[in-house]
Amino acid sequence: METKVDNVFPPVGKPKWLKVKLPIGEKYTELRGLVDKYKLNTICTSGSCTNMGECWGEGTATFMILGNICTRSCGFCSVKTGRPIS
Ligand code: SF4
Repeated sequence: METKVDNVFPPVGKPKWLKVKLPIGEKYTELRGLVDKYKLNTICTSGSCTNMGECWGEGTATFMILGNICTRSCGFCSVKTGRPIS
């Protein structure tokens, strides 16, 4: 016996926001160079943010002014955990 299922929608694919841009481009390269040259700490790199391609590609980065160590240990973030060096 066959059962009929109502309210079944056809597959529409993954939403656009699920895919992120690759970190490439002139602005990205320029910002990457500055961050590396001056050994700047950013939450973007320390936290392995997936939005780097988009933000850095538009010349935006967020700095960690007190170092790259955090006293918390949030499960979703990859910033190094520990006691900041004073
Ligand atoms: S500025 Fe952009 S790349 Fe940096 S942490 Fe924020 S969302 Fe991520």
